[in-house]
Amino acid sequence: MDVKIYEYDAVIVGAGLAGLAAAKELTEAGKKTAVITKLHPLRSHSGAAQGGINAALGKDDSTELHEFDTVKGSDYLADQDAVELMCTKAPETIRWAERMGAAFSRDEEGHIAIRPFGGQSKPRACYAKDRTGLAVLQAIYEQAFRAGIEVFDEWYVADLLYKDGKAYGVSAYNIRNSEPAIFNAKVVMFATGGHARAFRFNSNAHANTGDALSIVARHGLPLEDMEFVQFHPSGLGGSGVLISEAARGEGGRLFNSEGERFMSKYAPNAMELASRDVVSRAIMEEVRQGRGVGKDKQSVNIDLTHLDPQIILTRLPELRELAIAFQGQDMLKEPIHISATAHYSMGGIPTNINCQVRKNPHELVEGFYAAGECSCVSVHGANRLGANSVLEALLFGRHAGENMVKQLDEGIELKKATQADADTMLAEIKKIKTSNGKERVAKLREELQNGMTENAGVFRTKESLEKQIVIIDDLLKRFNNIRIDDKSDTYNTDLQEALELGHMLEFSKFIVVGALKREESRGSHYREDFPKRDDERFLKHTYAYMDKDYNITTEWGDVVITKFEPKERSY
Ligand SMILES: Cc1cc2nc3c(=O)[nH]c(=O)nc-3n(C[C@H](O)[C@H](O)[C@H](O)COP(=O)(O)OP(=O)(O)OC[C@H]3O[C@@H](n4cnc5c(N)ncnc54)[C@H](O)[C@@H]3O)c2cc1C
Repeated sequence: MDVKIYEYDAVIVGAGLAGLAAAKELTEAGKKTAVITKLHPLRSHSGAAQGGINAALGKDDSTELHEFDTVKGSDYLADQDAVELMCTKAPETIRWAERMGAAFSRDEEGHIAIRPFGGQSKPRACYAKDRTGLAVLQAIYEQAFRAGIEVFDEWYVADLLYKDGKAYGVSAYNIRNSEPAIFNAKVVMFATGGHARAFRFNSNAHANTGDALSIVARHGLPLEDMEFVQFHPSGLGGSGVLISEAARGEGGRLFNSEGERFMSKYAPNAMELASRDVVSRAIMEEVRQGRGVGKDKQSVNIDLTHLDPQIILTRLPELRELAIAFQGQDMLKEPIHISATAHYSMGGIPTNINCQVRKNPHELVEGFYAAGECSCVSVHGANRLGANSVLEALLFGRHAGENMVKQLDEGIELKKATQADADTMLAEIKKIKTSNGKERVAKLREELQNGMTENAGVFRTKESLEKQIVIIDDLLKRFNNIRIDDKSDTYNTDLQEALELGHMLEFSKFIVVGALKREESRGSHYREDFPKRDDERFLKHTYAYMDKDYNITTEWGDVVITKFEPKERSY
């Protein structure tokens, strides 16, 4: 059977904020653009963002202060040129989103309302109640749609077309009927979002399986800083479903089983509004010391009962509903149980400040861009501040779009795809469908997730990480021996979950190997055997590469430092 070959100027994988912002720019500039997404655009995880989007709009705030907080929050690993770009363009980005129709909450004077978030010197999280992501995603989807973007939704991208240092498209199949196709393009962009589903206890959507990371890595291209996974302090105990930082921003207080407001021991100044890595470790430490609450004593309490009920009802209505639905706890009347949950991926596909993907620390891939959570332009370094990610996705997505338009205008050749470019994808699908082994995808995934939470979670040691590498290598072998029951071509979710598990196993190994090599503690990465930050050896980005046998090698890349010299962090 012939595989259909589509030709475009630009192909974008992912229809969250980053993908749609880029697609809108390209389409408005008259470039023939396809957006491919495994979900309907409005189901992208961007729509789940609750708490806010940062911009220095307050009277006594400044973009330089936003930069400083971001760099300090990153434990000095962020690239400061990229941070400067993000923070200086943030106010304009909010206005752009507002002009597109995003209805932000207002203060009493009618200005866009702002609230405090962790690690901020001044309140600067703009919000639409606690449904910020959805408000922005809907607005940008409407406007991108009006501009005439072409969307292939419920298409699964399985491979990148890449040869001799140049990207020239992707291969994908239609989830509805398994029809394969090649999307040949002059420029390609990945905007596939996060990958915290690799952990048992996580806040992410089921789709956040990090497919693009291993798709890129299978071509020998690097992933950057994968060891830095953010654990958010407030996932609902037991499920990990997110209770936004807005709950602490609006005044929520944390208590252990002895009724102690324990943050006074860990961050006496910032208290509950220290950066996320600090608060998550404090919570886990209290639990480890036996001062947890709940049935299994694995949670702590967040208490909002001292707040005016109107604050909860008007600014946090969705959080209240989530806690009632998942735990039967009403935050108007009682404290609710929370615990640290895997939430966000600081690392990803390395790019320069123009969102062009790097082949190594010194060279770029031709015609290949990435933005949003799957990328690592490194504005978050070792730890992201709350409300900086929706900003990053929107701002760098748009920036990538502008840069792709520029490159297309300057003239970039289409490298013609051939039928053979679908071979890798077709072979992978065939192998999964015909494999008649004994292993089950759900079981392998559960073992991966349990191991990652246990051995590569909030606290890490050499022993725990080495143990996790053995577990992943074993799972990779057993993955060759799987069997799926559904062999059909129609909405074959068994097939998709198997493909996704293959990706999760591979990029998880990057997380663990990176964590093992980084013998220090920085931001979200905490090594109990190396509890101090070590700038002399590790003020560096990790670049990691995988060979065909899943061996991973690493090298170091420089951190861009412009205004802020590394200092000891305290909150
Ligand atoms: C519960 C929750 C709350 C959050 N709250 C906030 C907040 O208040 N403030 C903040 O700044 N950040 C927040 N974040 C983080 C932030 O929402 C995300 O980092 C950001 O929205 C990611 O946007 P994106 O465009 O990169 O990816 P996404 O919005 O996740 O989109 C990814 C897209 O890629 C597509 N895709 C993936 N793989 C494939 C494939 N193989 N083939 C085809 N398509 C594929 C998907 O279909 C989807 O369209 C939150 C995250 C979560 C999970």
